[in-house]
Amino acid sequence: MKIAVIGSGYVGLVTGACFADSGNDVTCIDIDAKKIEALKKGEVPIFEPGLAELVEHNAEAGRLTFTTDTAAGVAPADVIYLAVGTPQGDDGSANLSAMWSVVKAIAPHLREDAVVVTKSTVPVGTNARIFAMLKEFTGRECDVASNPEFLKEGAAIEDFMKPDRVVVGVRRPEVAEILQQLYSPFLRTEKPFIVMSPQSAEMTKYVANALLATKISFINEMANLCERMGGDINDVRRGIGHDSRIGFSFLFPGVGYGGSCFPKDVRALTAMSGEHGCTPAMLLAVDEVNERQKSVLSEKLAAHFGDDLAGKTIAVWGLAFKPRTDDIREAPALVLIRWLLERGAKVRAHDPEAIDNVRAELGDAIAYCRRMEALEGADALCILTEWKDYHSPDFAEMLHVMNQPVVFDGRNLYESERMRRRGFCYHSIGRPPVD
Ligand code: NAD
Repeated sequence: MKIAVIGSGYVGLVTGACFADSGNDVTCIDIDAKKIEALKKGEVPIFEPGLAELVEHNAEAGRLTFTTDTAAGVAPADVIYLAVGTPQGDDGSANLSAMWSVVKAIAPHLREDAVVVTKSTVPVGTNARIFAMLKEFTGRECDVASNPEFLKEGAAIEDFMKPDRVVVGVRRPEVAEILQQLYSPFLRTEKPFIVMSPQSAEMTKYVANALLATKISFINEMANLCERMGGDINDVRRGIGHDSRIGFSFLFPGVGYGGSCFPKDVRALTAMSGEHGCTPAMLLAVDEVNERQKSVLSEKLAAHFGDDLAGKTIAVWGLAFKPRTDDIREAPALVLIRWLLERGAKVRAHDPEAIDNVRAELGDAIAYCRRMEALEGADALCILTEWKDYHSPDFAEMLHVMNQPVVFDGRNLYESERMRRRGFCYHSIGRPPVD
């Protein structure tokens, strides 16, 4: 099939590269001319494991091309994927301005039998609105389908190529058949292809993200209770996880969720609920607990050092909102770093992939270091992202280079008792501190 993918970010680029890899002829389109120029030269502007190789391989094979020219990309396409950003607007709802401008831009160039598919996460009713807009612009009823994306940054290729399920929302069964054909190379292990209405598909994406965010806020709240009442959340987690009704996934306590999806999608669903006269008590609580959780390490730091951190050097390991990505959107690390800077601390930071993005945001306000270099002269280490690089550091060397052996572990990477024996004062989430 000939496919156009509009929006070449984390989702659009992965979608384009994976569809090209299964033999389709894909054009990736973006308004960001710098991004398209880089991609044409074989440079992938984001870090996502395996993506650069996949892009290079399919571009060389002539199946994957890049352009800023929407008309040229859309005119020959059987299927047009819309994968532009839908960020949070000022009132918490999804800002659909990029989506509307793309719909307007593609309308004059659509083939009569083309299928327009929303891959972006969009509020319930958006596909219906796109259908109405295209009818107004073209004078005919175009096929518009919803195909929400469930990939995880850091494992995006694997998730796209081996999805747990594919969800499509269509008005006509013939459109579902076209999309099923497109996805058939990725569904060979009998994973389900689930067909529903566009509204249900749009809602499915929000419900999935809201439930995952709920699990995180729930376990974080339980971790905080463990700290107050006594108890070790790690033991509690093991105690509940073997119950097949509960399971282990998404029940790791930490410093709150970040990223470009959970925060904005929970708030967009909340805004949608408001528009329909509902107050979603659970969604509001999930967001509130998460915002509070982002300051859990700063509260521990203040309890240990006092509120004035002038003259203190704090090392931060992990800046990305999660491992295996360079994405720092809504990253808890940035909240902590800004708090540290406001209190006069010097910050020495390390991240395997996200340094460039943080530098673009914070400039020279902090020092960017190699992993062990970040600890030199540090009065404390804060761990914000569970990169593999941090799982087994040389603890003796850490003791040697740090000014004080104090660790605030926001991801519970180490065993408390072992850290005490190694000579650290060790604070973690939902477990008793040791020193
Ligand atoms: P992104 O910001 O990485 O990429 C969006 C791209 O769209 C950018 O390259 C931008 O330049 C481009 N763009 C904006 N306006 C445009 C226009 N008018 N014409 C052409 N291109 C335009 O965003 P993303 O993370 O890829 O997310 C895209 C959508 O997918 C969002 O709705 C998001 O909620 C959803 N989603 C994201 C993830 C994820 O993990 N990132 C997972 C599932 C779903």
